[in-house]
Amino acid sequence: MSKRLGLPAQMGIGMVLGVIVGAMAPSISIDASWFKPLGDLFITLVRMVVVPLVFTTLVAGAASVCDVKELGRVATKTLVYYLLTTTVAVIIGLILANLIRPGLGLTLSMENLAVKDVSAPPLIKVLMDIVPLNPIDALAKGNMLQVIFFAILFGFALSMLGEKGRPAFVFFDSCAEVMIKVTGIVMRYAPIGVFGLMAFTVANHGLSVLLPLIKLVAVMYLACLLQILVVYLPCAHVAGLKPGTFLKGLSEPLIISFSTCSSAAALSSNLLSVQKLGASKSVSSFSIPLGNTINMDGAAIYMGVAAIFAAEVYGIPMPIDKQLTVILLAVLASIGSMGVPGAALIMITMVFTQVGIPLEAIALIAGVDRIMDMARTTINVLGDATGALLVSKLENGGNVKA
Ligand code: ASP
Repeated sequence: MSKRLGLPAQMGIGMVLGVIVGAMAPSISIDASWFKPLGDLFITLVRMVVVPLVFTTLVAGAASVCDVKELGRVATKTLVYYLLTTTVAVIIGLILANLIRPGLGLTLSMENLAVKDVSAPPLIKVLMDIVPLNPIDALAKGNMLQVIFFAILFGFALSMLGEKGRPAFVFFDSCAEVMIKVTGIVMRYAPIGVFGLMAFTVANHGLSVLLPLIKLVAVMYLACLLQILVVYLPCAHVAGLKPGTFLKGLSEPLIISFSTCSSAAALSSNLLSVQKLGASKSVSSFSIPLGNTINMDGAAIYMGVAAIFAAEVYGIPMPIDKQLTVILLAVLASIGSMGVPGAALIMITMVFTQVGIPLEAIALIAGVDRIMDMARTTINVLGDATGALLVSKLENGGNVKA
């Protein structure tokens, strides 16, 4: 591929080629499994960088907010923004799914549906598990909530120590730069990885899987569009950015997230893009790595839409109290989702078990999960970027470019 083509263009080409080759594969007797290693290698590379990338950028980010009071303020504003926007996201998903009813009248064959061997842990355990017994174990196992908890505490302590913590700060700041560079190197493989992932998905599932679930996919995309219109664009406006400037400035991380279905893959690009748009370095280097795992508006929308869809298919009534439970659980489950492809499909078990939806429903939607993952990952990443720009504006007044 030509050196002059930027990464987003290369990834776009990889994606289109993947769809074409995947669609042609059955007719020219190419097995879908041929493409799988190309995509799997990319996912492994992303998973390789995610723990050290989030840990180092978050430690450096938390520690770079000059004083402890400021860090507390930035953290509070960021968390309030995350909670509010994620809650709105589930509500948008629920409202649209209730109105459009994507599962109504659907008669899907339940034969051959493999039940995923996953079950949700009780809620209290999920909350208690945020605190790691051993931070090294959390890092080794890639338990992102535990990693984040420890990274913020560590960064917070560094910030409190002032001069004494300086050497450690310089070390982590430099490691964060190194990890951003490592991610950049890994991303050079992304166009091929994206080609493999798309070709495998299309060759494996084809249109026959998509058609019965097209309404579900449409509701998901519509809900994502609404989230942009009613949440992100107004926030960008408050941050002093015109819609065009805002979306154009974020085009690279958005294309990366759409094509890779991984927020983690888009982390460093998102960080650099919001800073170019004028977000302050200290706010964004704290909130972007934090939001990368805990702020997943797209995953929240998906959980709302999928819960209503599955309940309809199985004829399970969803009165308002159950839908309120969905809101609460979807917010929590989205916080716990990792920034890798298909993460929300696993975390949705938390929602389904609480409201009595059989877990077979997961196999039902798995066929179109990749297509929905593209939308939700894009929204996950856009939500983080919007938060960084808004909190920067609230903190520093005129720091964000017009
Ligand atoms: N793929 C999503 C992400 O990386 C997570 C998910 O919603 O499954 O943000």
